[in-house]
Amino acid sequence: MGMLPDEVAPIRLMATVWADTSGLHDDLASREGLDAWLSEAGVGSEPSSAAELALARRLRDAVRRLAAQVTGDERQTAHSPTRELAAALGDLNDLVAHLPVPQLAFVDGALRETSSADSSAVVTALARLARESIALLGGPDAAKLRACYAPGCVLYFMKTHPRREWCSVTCGNRARAARHYEKVRSTR
Ligand SMILES: [Zn+2]
Repeated sequence: MGMLPDEVAPIRLMATVWADTSGLHDDLASREGLDAWLSEAGVGSEPSSAAELALARRLRDAVRRLAAQVTGDERQTAHSPTRELAAALGDLNDLVAHLPVPQLAFVDGALRETSSADSSAVVTALARLARESIALLGGPDAAKLRACYAPGCVLYFMKTHPRREWCSVTCGNRARAARHYEKVRSTR
């Protein structure tokens, strides 16, 4: 968990699916996992329900599916269970509709700004993540989105400077070691 602390929230959400030498892992496999992730992200305030866990997983899988589309991701291991592009778009667009919007109310003889929010704190947090994901995937920063092609990696990252090729230093080292190994092997 918390492998990409400096990345924007949608990138960190996508990184809840990650891999190591023992295979794929899912930080959102349980309600406890979601609560821990939300609290680490600084947006959790109450325990999630089973329905909210399902919603979080659908959001995560949708963002990964759309990131795969944006980046032309060819990594088989990274493929998300949300197969259809239209379904992924629908999941994101449905969720963002839960964002609270400002409302004007007449309270005790005065006008007051209130909020339309009737969603739980968890759903509101997920809706904000959906909003950030829409801004990333549909905005100018989408051009910086990359799949990490280090051996076995399933993460995405933002190409924040021209020479950045990997999601992390660890992946960079692994990729260089693999290249070195290939070179040594091919010259034998
Ligand atoms: Zn990586």
